[in-house]
Amino acid sequence: MPEQQQSDFATTAIHAGQEFDPRTGAVIPPIYFSTTYVQDGVGGFRDGYEYTRGTNPTRDSLQSLLAALEGGERAFSFSSGLAAEDALLRAILLPGAHVLMGNDVYGGTHRLVDRVHVPWGVELSTVEMSDLDEVRAGLRPGATKVVWVETPSNPLMKITDVAAVAEIAHAAGAIVVVDNTFATPYLQQPLALGADIVVHSTTKYLGGHSDVLGGAVIVKAGAQLDGLGIADRVGFVQFGAGAVSGPMDAWLTVRGIKTLAVRMDRHSANAAHLAEHLVGHPRLEQVYYPGLPDHPGHELAARQMRHFGGMISVRLADGALARRFAETMTLFQLAESLGGVESLVCYPAEMTHASVKGTPLEVPDSVVRLSVGIEGQDDLLADVLGALDRL
Ligand SMILES: *Cc1c(COP(=O)(O)O)cnc(C)c1O
Repeated sequence: MPEQQQSDFATTAIHAGQEFDPRTGAVIPPIYFSTTYVQDGVGGFRDGYEYTRGTNPTRDSLQSLLAALEGGERAFSFSSGLAAEDALLRAILLPGAHVLMGNDVYGGTHRLVDRVHVPWGVELSTVEMSDLDEVRAGLRPGATKVVWVETPSNPLMKITDVAAVAEIAHAAGAIVVVDNTFATPYLQQPLALGADIVVHSTTKYLGGHSDVLGGAVIVKAGAQLDGLGIADRVGFVQFGAGAVSGPMDAWLTVRGIKTLAVRMDRHSANAAHLAEHLVGHPRLEQVYYPGLPDHPGHELAARQMRHFGGMISVRLADGALARRFAETMTLFQLAESLGGVESLVCYPAEMTHASVKGTPLEVPDSVVRLSVGIEGQDDLLADVLGALDRL
């Protein structure tokens, strides 16, 4: 079954890479904790298994699943989203290479390049990625190797035209990496839109239950940079530097992904309901949700995404009010992260985006971000309206 591409996403999410155990018939394949594998004589590996940093059947099952869901040729899973991003960038960049990044990507992604890769000689600049003229002007032909896109963006939910950016980047000799964490492959397929690489923090919607950290790099068939195959290079850094996902983490992530389609339908429906009921509230200056007809990226998102996702941000009159609002909700728990079944609220200026204060990525202190969970719609709305009333 995993060999053939399933036409229906929900079927692939449950079956790709998940063959039953041939010895016992166990429907759920066993978790392989073994770090090493017996050799039938020196170098006589069974099915290529030698040592778990290199290959592990449980990690393989997650990687096959991720590759199938994103329509990529190969996938590599890591111990966190940032470990995945770091491995990718170290696999493909050399000193002097330039990275062009959206100006409101995840704060930790900017921090990784700015404070880990730039000191090793990589160059970084940021642009408004949803403005194609800015993207064209920001490219440095010959030097720009990577255009890094996050759509919807975090936390302002800007929408970038992946196909258009890919065309512009490819013409300048750069590849396009899309961080698909917010949308997930169920809502958006960046490789089919023209991107070369997808990265994920599987910690968020893919795992889906706020109980396992992980990340992934998924590579499109034949993706190359400067004439060299990208997948082999990422695979080498995964093995050679070793930030792999452990077997228990890989298994938990697979378990989460099986319900991705139903969860994303519900996250999206709950967020749309909430956003529609918050528009025009006297305490809110703005509601940022791509599903709202007056959102600047609405039409593009409708073309590029199946639904509009589970993330909403709102802007209040000032920072003090925003902070109080974030601290006053009860069902929405105040915590970092997103994408779990439970609703969370975040005050980006001091939490997820504290690391980008004073950079072009600084987030207005009047913005609050909501990760809308899959609880009851009425309870979620009552919690938000109650907190606004108490301000
Ligand atoms: C959380 C997150 C990351 C980083 O992933 P970790 O698993 O926390 O290392 C990267 N990108 C986005 C969009 C995220 O939300």
